[in-house]
Amino acid sequence: MEIIDQKSLIENPSLTKKVNLKGMTIDELEDFFLEIGEHKYRSEQIFHWMYNKLSVSFFEMENFSKELRNKLNGICEIKGLEYVDSKVSEESGTKKYIFKTSDDLKIESVLIPEESRKTLCISTQVGCPLDCKFCATGLMGYKKNLTPGEIIDQYLLVAKDVGKDYVTNIVYMGMGEPLLNYHNTLKSLEILASSLTKGISLKKVTVSTAGIAPKIIALADSGLKPKLALSLHSCFDEIRSLIMPINNKYPIHENVKAIRHYAKNTGTRITFEYVMFKDINDRDVDIKELVKLCKEIPSKVNIIPFNSLKHMSPKGFSAKLQPTPRERIDDFVKKLLDKNITVTVRYTQGTDIAAACGQLAIKYK
Ligand code: SF4
Repeated sequence: MEIIDQKSLIENPSLTKKVNLKGMTIDELEDFFLEIGEHKYRSEQIFHWMYNKLSVSFFEMENFSKELRNKLNGICEIKGLEYVDSKVSEESGTKKYIFKTSDDLKIESVLIPEESRKTLCISTQVGCPLDCKFCATGLMGYKKNLTPGEIIDQYLLVAKDVGKDYVTNIVYMGMGEPLLNYHNTLKSLEILASSLTKGISLKKVTVSTAGIAPKIIALADSGLKPKLALSLHSCFDEIRSLIMPINNKYPIHENVKAIRHYAKNTGTRITFEYVMFKDINDRDVDIKELVKLCKEIPSKVNIIPFNSLKHMSPKGFSAKLQPTPRERIDDFVKKLLDKNITVTVRYTQGTDIAAACGQLAIKYK
């Protein structure tokens, strides 16, 4: 934990940067309070104020003495994202939020209201280094990893906007590859998983990865059990590498080994995300391989119609990608169902505000 030079902070708060408590786990808060000479039980109180009551000021914390509030205010802060803007899709009610980090970078989060659930899609990086050819975030390049506080704050700020009980599910599927920001992603999951956090259980949280095999294994062994989604998009290495260059580093067999371990260790079912591209991954031979894979691993397939990247003026292979026509998607799904594969189709939500899957991007000069 980065608690730097507490003594000098207390003696001369103006000299040193304040410690940001937002994003700290309960264990880190305990260490912090012990280090500043306070009782350990304060950690639970502040945890409750920050993550359940969504408080950002020590002066609201009425179960702290005036002296303690002043002391905390001198040496630490509760600082996260800043709300910038939001837009609601007229088509679907999907709401896209834009937030700003303290270093003035913007990220997006998307709230998808469906009848049975209200899912919040959150980001873990500003931009993304992985350059998946169908993804607007990939096209914008990589800026930085979000801190645990910035990851969790997307949920807290949306909860403040729509009410804490409104959001029923969280997917780590916005901007960035969560497993390339493994440490901070894990901390944000720990905060959500804490018995002190009232709200969302990790059974309702899905981490989606492009396939960082060693980190899938690490997450499987972490003791946390979020659901896992693998962006598969093809069962053939040659094709998957064209769509997702990360496949050159972690090919399909390595990821299959890792997700098998994940499913076994966590007792959860893997979701295979499958964005459909015309004549690239929608052939009968793709169905055959997908069925084979699904029979091997407890899993389901989530079919995603490809959403246009026109708003990003794509070039190269990205510009060649076309959506599979609706009739072919229906046929593809039917053939999977005939083989007893569990399939869902995520029809487009929020294309009119560029909030649909793979469309999130902030334009930077
Ligand atoms: S799909 Fe995910 S991993 Fe790939 S570039 Fe986009 S944000 Fe990154």
